[in-house]
Amino acid sequence: MSRPLPVVQAPPASTRGSRRGAWGCLGLSFPWLVFVLVSGLVVWDQRTARDSVDLTEVAAAAGLEVQTHEDQQEAAVARDVVCNMTVRRATAYQVTVAERTYFFCSTYCRDAVVAEPARWIQAHPPSLTAGADKHLMRGIPAWMYQYGVLILLLVSFGLFELLSWLRERRGAPLTQPALDARQDLLGAAWVRRLVTWKPLRFCFQSVCAAFFCLIIYAGLFGNQNPSMNVAPLLTWTIWWAGLIFLILYFGKLWCFVCPWDGIATWIERLKPWGPRQSGMGLGLRWPRKLRNIWPAVGLFVLLTWVELGLGVTMVPRVTAYLALGMLGMAVTSVLVFDRKAFCRYGCLVGRVSGLYALFSPIEVRSKDDAVCSTCRTMDCYKGNAEGDGCPTFEFPRTMQRNTYCISCGECLKTCPHGNTTVRLRPWASDLAQGGKGRSDEAFLAIVLLSMTGFHGLTMTPRWGEWSDAVQSSLAIPAQASFSLLMVGLLVLPVLLFALLSKATAMIGRVARTRTVFLRYAYALLPIALFYHLAHNAEHFLMEGPKLLALASDPCGWGWDLFGTAGWAVPPMITLEGLWILQVFFVVIGHLYGLWISERTTRGLVPDRLRGILAQIPMLLAMLASSTVSLWLLNQPMEMRVSAM
Ligand code: SF4
Ligand code: SF4
Ligand code: SF4
Repeated sequence: MSRPLPVVQAPPASTRGSRRGAWGCLGLSFPWLVFVLVSGLVVWDQRTARDSVDLTEVAAAAGLEVQTHEDQQEAAVARDVVCNMTVRRATAYQVTVAERTYFFCSTYCRDAVVAEPARWIQAHPPSLTAGADKHLMRGIPAWMYQYGVLILLLVSFGLFELLSWLRERRGAPLTQPALDARQDLLGAAWVRRLVTWKPLRFCFQSVCAAFFCLIIYAGLFGNQNPSMNVAPLLTWTIWWAGLIFLILYFGKLWCFVCPWDGIATWIERLKPWGPRQSGMGLGLRWPRKLRNIWPAVGLFVLLTWVELGLGVTMVPRVTAYLALGMLGMAVTSVLVFDRKAFCRYGCLVGRVSGLYALFSPIEVRSKDDAVCSTCRTMDCYKGNAEGDGCPTFEFPRTMQRNTYCISCGECLKTCPHGNTTVRLRPWASDLAQGGKGRSDEAFLAIVLLSMTGFHGLTMTPRWGEWSDAVQSSLAIPAQASFSLLMVGLLVLPVLLFALLSKATAMIGRVARTRTVFLRYAYALLPIALFYHLAHNAEHFLMEGPKLLALASDPCGWGWDLFGTAGWAVPPMITLEGLWILQVFFVVIGHLYGLWISERTTRGLVPDRLRGILAQIPMLLAMLASSTVSLWLLNQPMEMRVSAM
């Protein structure tokens, strides 16, 4: 059972073709230049030796006793005695006392020892056993936070007005050529053949399904100490944190390899690949009232509550239950409903990545609308012997955004004219197009912003203080206090944004506040995405390497499969390198948010001066969001893995 085809409406010419020029090349290459810059920073950071302070005389004057341990002196890593982080000796700050050297993650910890040597220099060396104590990671230094806020202020009120002025003087849109640039990635015949090879998706999905089974098995039957079980680390630190990196560069690639969708499809069709000719599914229509992403928004909020409120990141078994729950929903959906209704409406991972993918530099689209206009079969939507009709009910001819495309590649196989392709494009192309906006997507954008901030907040010591204060003042249990604060932090940003939208509507003489709310909410997405990235970079780069040790003993049963079980693995970046990355990400996200906001204003308020004034409340909303992001990064964070 299939839905009728969507009304055919050719997309604007500006989103088609592959025009190029200097601006176009810059637009296409900018994401990859950022990638090179960030990778270069990580490599440079790992090769740069930090300075050393000699406290021998101070320690002798204070009568401190220092022991030298040869075994530790020879190791490549050491443990910071102040914050307990594993650090790489070659790139760590050092303090020398007699023949003993102490290694530190940052100047924070080094200076703490210099200020109070008697407190930290002990007769016994710190343990190199991972997770010996709780690890509190220092946030970005105050000066970095202050300069970051200054940069945000300067660019918020001036930069884009200057660009607008230049644009007007030039008499043509300055950024449009960059936005229109596209590079067809399937131009070479062999690449197209490879991408449309029918078993390709099965190959990737089966590898991911194997990892999925490992998580389930380790979670259900492995050691329930989270520091000894691979399930929490692989799920929350590697996959969930790494997913944002993947979206930023490869859009919905995760959906292409998704094991939930793969297993559900194999069960329903009883075959590994190929189009659905018959299957066990009932093919019912998804309920009309649920044809929106509110179910996914609800699931996202619920998952955040379960993850942070119940602390499931610390419980391998519950991690496995959650993964099985997602699989259960995907399987039920394909058995009951038409196509992949769960992917379109219900999957929180698909919907969150769908909104973020509006920013990504990869798109699946039809190439030439003239070819589509003569096409009578519409196989990309209906399917044929080569592949399925679009599983998420998209019609590639009219699809202009990545939101609901799951990059399954079916339309690449089914289009009889070879008129569908995968293209490289500049960052934020979908967002810059503008459009009316949808209420469910707009709310999800604000929820993403508030929930990612909330996530960061719950890892700071301040959260504990606030939660305790609410708990004791209202005399309610800890769980209720957590839920109350979470609801407050969910509702407050929506209310504030609604108020600011009202102000913009009044100043800009836009008839409906709702229009302003829906359109500008998308400008918050880059801010949410890059804060998410900055926060996850901390987990991924600092805690991710622990996987090397857990790979040898995934279930915590004392195995040593690859001889790495006893490794104390240092982070992939030093704390100082991480701080630079984090501030950089927040500023980039803010700049993109401003740019989208400026384009939205041009579309909504034709009068130039009125537009500048009307945009101010929205600029304040973005400035507040990015400042809160920096403030959160300035706070010390309790890390997951070391707390395990
Ligand atoms: S939408 Fe969800 S279930 Fe569907 S492919 Fe993407 S992650 Fe998997
Ligand atoms: S099948 Fe190909 S040519 Fe026909 S409408 Fe779809 S993308 Fe266009
Ligand atoms: S069939 Fe094409 S448009 Fe539809 S989800 Fe797959 S890749 Fe995207």
